[in-house]
Amino acid sequence: MPGRIGWGFIGASTISREWMLEAVRRTPGNEVVAVFSRSRQRGERFAAETGIGKVYDRLADLLAAPDIQAIYVASTNERHHSEVLACAAAGKHVLCEKPLALSVEDGLVMVAACERAKVVLAVNHHLRGAAPHRAMREIIASGRLGRIVVVRTAHGALLPEHLQTWRIRDAATGAGAALDLTVHDADIVRFLLDDEIVAVQAMTANSGLAAGSIEDTALAILRTRGGVLVHVQDVFNTPFNRTAAEIHGTKGSLFALDCMTQEPIGSVVLRNAGGETPIELEHENRYARVVRQFNEAIAGHGRPDCTGRDGVASLAVALAVLESARTGCEAKVDSRTFAPT
Ligand code: NDP
Repeated sequence: MPGRIGWGFIGASTISREWMLEAVRRTPGNEVVAVFSRSRQRGERFAAETGIGKVYDRLADLLAAPDIQAIYVASTNERHHSEVLACAAAGKHVLCEKPLALSVEDGLVMVAACERAKVVLAVNHHLRGAAPHRAMREIIASGRLGRIVVVRTAHGALLPEHLQTWRIRDAATGAGAALDLTVHDADIVRFLLDDEIVAVQAMTANSGLAAGSIEDTALAILRTRGGVLVHVQDVFNTPFNRTAAEIHGTKGSLFALDCMTQEPIGSVVLRNAGGETPIELEHENRYARVVRQFNEAIAGHGRPDCTGRDGVASLAVALAVLESARTGCEAKVDSRTFAPT
């Protein structure tokens, strides 16, 4: 493991308060040193409530701090681009929230800047660390399901009341279900199948939770480079929904329930000629796993579960979903984000 890592958190955000502070603090050798907020008053309140020692209200001051090696960018989506570029310029490793950016172009620039600066760029697609997804990926890779034919993901819930703010109201922040939820599904599908999503047919709707033309519901059919068809359902306004993922192959099917969550829960059942077999899972805190992998990458021993390049690829799929919904036609995913064949 690397030496001590001091973290600076960008933004007095809910995800930091609810998950990431604990994830960093429980990782040996890691400490949250400071928080930056555009509002000194908000930053000071956040620091007092969470026990963070220092507050900055100028980003340049946070980035100049010698006791900070890693930055967690947990601001609203439209800020990620400029803040990650500033981190790279300051030589700080960066864990950025999803979606990585609001355009593929910006995402590619962020990846290139971090590569040039030789800093780690990871994206907080925590669902890669979910035990159900890791088990499913292994079973798919083992060939036990035969040829994969179709996949289905369901990412439905009620957006908690305290989060019913910019996400469903302010288009300039990259609001809506596609950039918030579909981006996670795209990442998980790429992770499970080890494949790229190349084309999208989608429809979106506002069931009444979101403002104006912002979608609180997105349904899409995706096609992968390997020819698998995927159905994704992303909804903000269904309190009794459950999250799920299904993988159907010619020799077997996997059914995961409650897997697309923040909590380390969920189950997987394998159904094949032998009947139904529950898969044994070792659950762990998904965000703590992200921090651990990030540490390893900084130490040069590994790579983050989700790299900057992965982050641009999932963003490109979510943007294609929005384009298809707008035009009513199939949208191609930006091929600059594909892994080489
Ligand atoms: P919040 O709305 O809680 O915070 C976002 C930013 O808004 C903060 O960084 C803060 O920046 C500013 N802010 C906070 N409170 C206020 C306020 N009262 N008035 C005005 N501005 C305020 O966002 P989330 O924590 O829900 O999301 C942050 C990022 O994390 C997003 O990119 C989101 O997509 C992502 N996310 C990822 C999850 C995951 O599981 N990977 C889960 C949830 C979110 P500042 O203090 O600098 O003004």
